[in-house]
Amino acid sequence: MTAPERLERFQNYIGGAFVDAPDGRTFGSLDPYAGEPWATVPEGTVEDVDHAVAAARTALDGEWGAMTGFQRAALMRRLADLIGENAERLARVEVRDNGKLYREMIGQLQGLGAWYHYFAGHADKIEGRVIPTDKPQFFLYTRREPVGVVGAITPWNSPLLLMTWKLAPALAAGCTFVVKPSEHSPASTLAFAQVLHEAGFPAGVFNVVAGSGRELGAALAGHPGVDKIAFTGSTATGRAVAHAAAENLNRVTLELGGKSPQVVLEDADLEAAANGIIADVFAATGQTCMAGSRVVVHESVHDELVRLVAERANAIKLGDPNDPETEMGPVANPPQYEKVLGYLDKAKAEGAVAACGGGADDELGGLFVRPTLFTGVTADSTVVREEVFGPVTAALTFRTEEEALKIANDTPYGLAGSVWTRDVQRAHRVAAKLRAGTVWINAYRVVGPYAPFGGFGASGLGRENGADALQEYTEVKSIWVELSGATRDPFKLG
Ligand code: NAP
Repeated sequence: MTAPERLERFQNYIGGAFVDAPDGRTFGSLDPYAGEPWATVPEGTVEDVDHAVAAARTALDGEWGAMTGFQRAALMRRLADLIGENAERLARVEVRDNGKLYREMIGQLQGLGAWYHYFAGHADKIEGRVIPTDKPQFFLYTRREPVGVVGAITPWNSPLLLMTWKLAPALAAGCTFVVKPSEHSPASTLAFAQVLHEAGFPAGVFNVVAGSGRELGAALAGHPGVDKIAFTGSTATGRAVAHAAAENLNRVTLELGGKSPQVVLEDADLEAAANGIIADVFAATGQTCMAGSRVVVHESVHDELVRLVAERANAIKLGDPNDPETEMGPVANPPQYEKVLGYLDKAKAEGAVAACGGGADDELGGLFVRPTLFTGVTADSTVVREEVFGPVTAALTFRTEEEALKIANDTPYGLAGSVWTRDVQRAHRVAAKLRAGTVWINAYRVVGPYAPFGGFGASGLGRENGADALQEYTEVKSIWVELSGATRDPFKLG
């Protein structure tokens, strides 16, 4: 094991100060490729959550709350530029913490500033409306005001991107923010705090409390000092978070799991579809919410598509996430690795046949799993119904477009999906009928700060990104102004 003095040290960020846990306790953050801790992180407490929420309230009632949208936008643009300058360091931290490829993370981090620039563009354009009324003695207008203190809870797979989908609109709207990152990958959010600090935001606008206890997330989700909860994670935890927030009648956005279908029609470009399947479920080791973990393919092209996917999957280079040649890194943490292997065993026990992969990578060992495509599954197979959150997909066949849609929509989830076809009419027809928050036509895994993202059904509540996201962080206030000065009958409404 690495000597403790060689571990990188991170601190929580509360009220504009970098702080240790009250009793100085820390925990080690695991590098999943090296198989050992690489950093120490404070073992934050529920009291830290209280302090962070109080600091966020003070900032909201103080300097930050008094700023104009123009001033907030200027700070956000400075932050965006500093993220660009620090992209390499932040990407390296993400890679060490969750084993994702450097080549993916550097792109993600170099692009992250775009979210702050996009929402800075909104910060000085949050407008109310003047509403015509049937009462000539009244002038009626609305204001959009910040919803208040936001509590954010993020998962381990893309901590900074998924936090940014919450933070950028929250800052634009004038909210303040307390984030609790996952215990499996807390370091990048703490490193991000150093960048935000340098950008010069007033103390308390942004706070991070990391810790390894489940009670931290629960404390934030149910905190009476919080006005809104923004959560990304599993559907099961999302339900618990929504229950906790409901106790305070707090607003909630939930970005949850998925079981997204890739619908491949018989006239599709099969090479392109196979490449899309590789991109959507084997890139990032399948640890993305939008993973296309069900292939719904016309029976006439099933065999050829399976052959193409298996051939490319067998050639995927697994290895060191920092090596530019590597295409798939390890699973991000030991519990997730065990979970993925459990799903592989269960699929085989239920009769599925692995066209490629099907188990751990015995040569590499560690937390490596081979990219897997199952055939011989049914609509009821566990691997078809449940989110694996790993490099695993399964192919189901159909004969008609109606049947394709029935299979594709036969899931409680509804996060994303794709349709592969050369027929423009069928493409739009099928896209319209897929029950999912995002549909790609002849493409996969494309997102942008301007494109609303979120789920139908068990995949979540509300939307992140785009102008829609701003609505999630503002309250509307109606203001009636009496213009005549006349005395009204106090016993009549309106
Ligand atoms: P998770 O186990 O649900 O954890 C998510 C976050 O919730 C973590 O910070 C976790 O802290 C915290 N948490 C755990 N129990 C809690 C509780 N009772 N109350 C409040 N917070 C609690 O999810 P994960 O394994 O980190 O992430 C994978 C899941 O996220 C997958 O289902 C994936 O589909 C989903 N996801 C969705 C999207 C999307 O945009 N829709 C994007 C990415 C991932 P600890 O880690 O410290 O336990």
